[in-house]
Amino acid sequence: MAETPREELAELARLLSAHIAWQRTLGVVELPRDGVLPAGRLAVRPAVEVVAARVAAAPELPAAVVVPAVAPVAVQPVPAPVPVGSSPAPAPVAVGPAARPVVLTLFEAPVDAPSERGPALEGEARIAALRVVDDDVKACTRCRLANGRRNTVFARGNPFARLCFVGEGPGEQEDLKGLPFVGPAGQLLDKIIGAMGLSPDEVYVANIVKCRPPGNRVPESDEMAACTPFLVRQLEIVRPEVIVALGRTAVGFLLQSRDSMSRLRGQWQSYQGIPVLPTWHPAYLLRNPDAKGDTWADMKLVLERLELPLPRRGA
Ligand code: SF4
Repeated sequence: MAETPREELAELARLLSAHIAWQRTLGVVELPRDGVLPAGRLAVRPAVEVVAARVAAAPELPAAVVVPAVAPVAVQPVPAPVPVGSSPAPAPVAVGPAARPVVLTLFEAPVDAPSERGPALEGEARIAALRVVDDDVKACTRCRLANGRRNTVFARGNPFARLCFVGEGPGEQEDLKGLPFVGPAGQLLDKIIGAMGLSPDEVYVANIVKCRPPGNRVPESDEMAACTPFLVRQLEIVRPEVIVALGRTAVGFLLQSRDSMSRLRGQWQSYQGIPVLPTWHPAYLLRNPDAKGDTWADMKLVLERLELPLPRRGA
């Protein structure tokens, strides 16, 4: 606690400096005066530019070097398996300052604003870009959830997946292992994925917050506001064809909707032009097994959207 006005001023300056450093990390290059940016100006650097610049600047991540997966990021080594019936991955695409801008907001809805995207990062560049974001998450103390965590929980699965599941936040097992959806709810999610005829290595799984809320409570709004820029960056890099939003928290952020799950579930929505299907969180299904039929109906919609065959029951 500051004892004198001078100490208080120094503390304020330190906090402001830390805040600006964080904004820079997220790609903010300009702050609005009086809350308004001059017409035609973006407050945020294109996410692809940010990660590409940081990858280029990081001597340990040269673009030509295969970046090994580093726990707890469950990325696949290259060459990546071709996920979910996709065509072979195109050759790596160099992304530099010429990339077209992406319209993103930091702490508000990145929902379905019309956006111009640069080319997707492919191959090693995509893995390296995700590693940059994961490193930022590991170092993050942006919210109070940093205090009780044993591990940050970034993602698991295939960074080249066509299908991405987004949940709420880590539980006890996830916090212990540093991977999302590895507890009882995660085992059920893997069964759902298996019933779809897919393997957990063919999808990408991430959460709204990367550190465990105490007692598995729902993340507070300020915690989500602090953490969701990481998810925005993940989704911008992975660019799945379909997102399944698992439960109220994921649906609330991705769709910026306060509608109930019973209204939204099973109805196609959109996040940044990516089709989003809200469905029950697996933890809810553990408490309400009768709702599993809803989830299976939703997953059939997902398979149909991805033009994947419907597995025969019992197959
Ligand atoms: Fe940082 Fe997110 Fe963890 Fe909060 S929950 S400390 S914002 S990584």
